[in-house]
Amino acid sequence: MVRIGRHHLDVVDTAYLIARVFTSFALIVLFSGGFLRPPVGFELMQQVGMTMFAIVTVGVLVAYLASSLPRRRVLWIALPFDLVSAGILLIATHAYQDPMYTWYVGLVVIYAVALPKREAQGVAVLTAAAYVAAHAIGFYRAHTPIEYLLIAFKAFTVLLLAAFVAEGMHRQLEREAELESSHEDVESLNQQLQRRLSELNAVSEITEVIHSSLDFDAIGPLVLEIIQKVIDVPACSLLVLDKQKAQTLFSASAGLGGASATVARSIDSISSDGALELEGGLFTCLTILDHGQMMVVFCAEARHIEAMRLEDRLVLQAVASELVVAVENSQLYKLTKRLSITDELTGLHNYRYMQQRLDDEFERARRFDRPLSLLMLDADDFKQFNDAHGHVAGDRALADLGQVLKAAVREIDVTARYGGEEFAVILPETDAAGAFVVAEKIRESVAGYRFADGEGERKVPLTLSIGLAAFPVHAEDRETLLRQADDALYQAKHLGRDRVRAAQPLMRSLDDSGEGAAAVGGDVEELPA
Ligand code: GH3
Ligand code: MG
Ligand code: MG
Repeated sequence: MVRIGRHHLDVVDTAYLIARVFTSFALIVLFSGGFLRPPVGFELMQQVGMTMFAIVTVGVLVAYLASSLPRRRVLWIALPFDLVSAGILLIATHAYQDPMYTWYVGLVVIYAVALPKREAQGVAVLTAAAYVAAHAIGFYRAHTPIEYLLIAFKAFTVLLLAAFVAEGMHRQLEREAELESSHEDVESLNQQLQRRLSELNAVSEITEVIHSSLDFDAIGPLVLEIIQKVIDVPACSLLVLDKQKAQTLFSASAGLGGASATVARSIDSISSDGALELEGGLFTCLTILDHGQMMVVFCAEARHIEAMRLEDRLVLQAVASELVVAVENSQLYKLTKRLSITDELTGLHNYRYMQQRLDDEFERARRFDRPLSLLMLDADDFKQFNDAHGHVAGDRALADLGQVLKAAVREIDVTARYGGEEFAVILPETDAAGAFVVAEKIRESVAGYRFADGEGERKVPLTLSIGLAAFPVHAEDRETLLRQADDALYQAKHLGRDRVRAAQPLMRSLDDSGEGAAAVGGDVEELPA
């Protein structure tokens, strides 16, 4: 493609223009130089034909290079002038071996290449007819029938050649169109592939995010951010619901501004037709997955839900299945975690958790120089309870005992089953005197409670013996605190049960504080008020 001025000339245009200019020059040189002499009386014809041809050439050049006329128009306008001038020249040069024939051949080839098939065939017929006509007009006196047959044959060749070239061009164009359309197919397939790939990427990214943490609150916005990369929704919510408990197990919102919290709260009220009223407007919810007790819904403005394609729903489904598995895992994890620190019979904390908390609380008390007390509790004569009412009633009594203990202490206190019919209570921020008050409260609560016998009748009394030790008066390390509380419990048993006994205060030198030995110690009766 050659660019001249505002015009792009392709190979055909260039060949056509060069051929015209060359032929014009050749005619001028041949005629003016006397190389082709017209028969007497044809001189004017030769001049007219040559001039006409040259003028058309200049016109064509101007039309191509300086006007915005389409090529097809230029060719059609030039054609009658060319046929006339070529006819004139053909007659003027009839003394030679038909030198203009080449021009006729070239003309139909150029037109066959440049114009659509039907037009090119029309041009070929016109050209062949003009060729025959020129001969008929010019040589009627001088030619034999054989020579006319030869002319007809040459005209037929012109037609045949044009037909071949036009057909070839036509096929070529068809192939190009086919290629073009298959190229477009490939392009659109490629785009689809790219989309699929980014959807797959999004799903795998989300899967990674979902399974990277058992804490869902943090991942919600991230999950939606990734979803929005592949699904075109400016504001949406994704929720995992527990159908039976009518609970929202997971909720994430994007593009809702302050309305996100409202979604989480109002999700239980999604109406049966899937509509959800929000501060920002009405949302439509789409159930993506219904799996056992869980349901995953995706909410967005109705028009966006309607505009969603099958692929978008598939992406959401893939994300939903991952979410459901992750929510189940998270619930299982929470349950396992709770079970691992809970005593099954009483619902109190278990021995392991109590030891861990005692470590932590002791560390805190020591670091901040705060008091900390520990109670060790043991049911009195529990063997007899079992013997009298059976093990099942014993179990139930232990469970009830756990609830009585829990009700008697503060929320921050740690109540644990230490083992068998023994319990422990950690009292942070509580000194020995305070702990004594709590221990007494517990003891009295239990003594006043009636436990169920084998028949389920609440009439059996039970008592507790309680040993008490406090940091820092009774112990300066965790092991000593435990041992001191245990010793105090032993003392309480030894003194007749159903009582609270404090540990022996640590022996300190007199100049230490001067009141060390006076710290709480001994029986209830010995306690300061
Ligand atoms: P004491 O006043 O000296 O503590 O007497 P006691 O009978 O409570 O003490 P002992 O240690 O001799 O017996 C504890 C009993 O507690 C033995 C056991 O049958 C009973 N026990 C321990 N754990 C459980 C339990 O989980 N369920 C039931 N039903 N009984 C238990
Ligand atoms: Mg015991
Ligand atoms: Mg006991």
